[in-house]
Amino acid sequence: MEALVKAKPQEGIWLETAPVPDIKPDEVLIRVEKTAICGTDVHIYNWDEWAQKTIPVPMIVGHEFGGHIVELGSNVRRPLKIGQRVSGEGHLIGQKSRAVRAGHFHLDPDTQGVGVNRPGAFAEYLAIPAFNVIELPDDLDMDVAAMLDPLGNAVHTALAFDLVGEDVLITGAGPIGIFAAAIARHVGARNVVITDINPNRLALAEKVADCRPVDVSKEKLEDVMASLRMKEGFDVAMEMSGAPSAFNAIVDNMVMGGNVAMLGIPAGEMPVDWSKIVFKALTIKTIYGREMFETWYKMLAMLSSGLDVSGVITHRMDHTDFQAGFDAARSGASGKVILDWA
Ligand code: NAD
Ligand code: ZN
Repeated sequence: MEALVKAKPQEGIWLETAPVPDIKPDEVLIRVEKTAICGTDVHIYNWDEWAQKTIPVPMIVGHEFGGHIVELGSNVRRPLKIGQRVSGEGHLIGQKSRAVRAGHFHLDPDTQGVGVNRPGAFAEYLAIPAFNVIELPDDLDMDVAAMLDPLGNAVHTALAFDLVGEDVLITGAGPIGIFAAAIARHVGARNVVITDINPNRLALAEKVADCRPVDVSKEKLEDVMASLRMKEGFDVAMEMSGAPSAFNAIVDNMVMGGNVAMLGIPAGEMPVDWSKIVFKALTIKTIYGREMFETWYKMLAMLSSGLDVSGVITHRMDHTDFQAGFDAARSGASGKVILDWA
């Protein structure tokens, strides 16, 4: 089969041939149809410090995918069928940690990542445990199926706090921030404000979600709040940029007792004025991955009841044009980039 491989410990990614994976008794083999490029794949492409210490080379990368089942392991007990359209949770968990045994699957310290610690989805075939398989509704577009992993990050973050009637601030209009804006609107927020410093991203956010884009390099959040007749600050914030200045903007513009959900991963240590956080009595909740499998349940339910995030896709191409895809993903001028493997 063809696969995109991190074949050498240097910048780049290479299209190679690899054997179709053998499945273990509890695994299924999936014929991948569509994949999406994630920020994680860009880190691996760039071969940055995180990638160098995390990714064994050679490694088939990628973890955002949609496809159909072609083979079931002999010990698969779930009612899955050959031909069934599926996606999958890319975090593979163990059975021994306290978190897993308490049912908090997404908090397992032994988590292994598809396309990070084990062979990934940028390939014609992918083997994953049946436990991780997500059955898709017939009418779900495969391009959207390929984005359920990052959409799940946004769902997990957005549903961390009650948004109904609330004024919501999202910092970072990357794909996940834009997803979060669409979800906040879908579940009944009042004002949804999204910030970035990249005009392409803000224009995409405004196109996809009914939200107020703010370029924080040109406009002050205080002025935006005044124009929206907001007096006391945002009720809920979602940090989705990893930028220290964005987190500080959240702290400065929250209501007393406000709720902050943090998904963004700062590149290093982040200076924070904790006294402001204490005096505002803010609640901060950090978010990792997706809840298995409540996030997936809620996500598919929202998609079937009108949540539309397909506009986040800006590029679609054959997997053989992967270089153009990675160039687009690295440029910052793109939303989601979809590669076709069918
Ligand atoms: P992305 O890099 O595509 O988007 C981040 C956006 O933040 C960019 O558009 C960037 O221009 C913008 N930004 C930079 N500085 C800013 C500032 N000062 N104010 C406002 N915006 C600013 O990332 P993504 O794929 O959308 O992911 C969002 C974040 O979530 C990333 O930090 C990513 O690492 C993180 N993440 C975390 C998890 C988790 O499990 N916790 C999972 C997936 C992604
Ligand atoms: Zn991803």
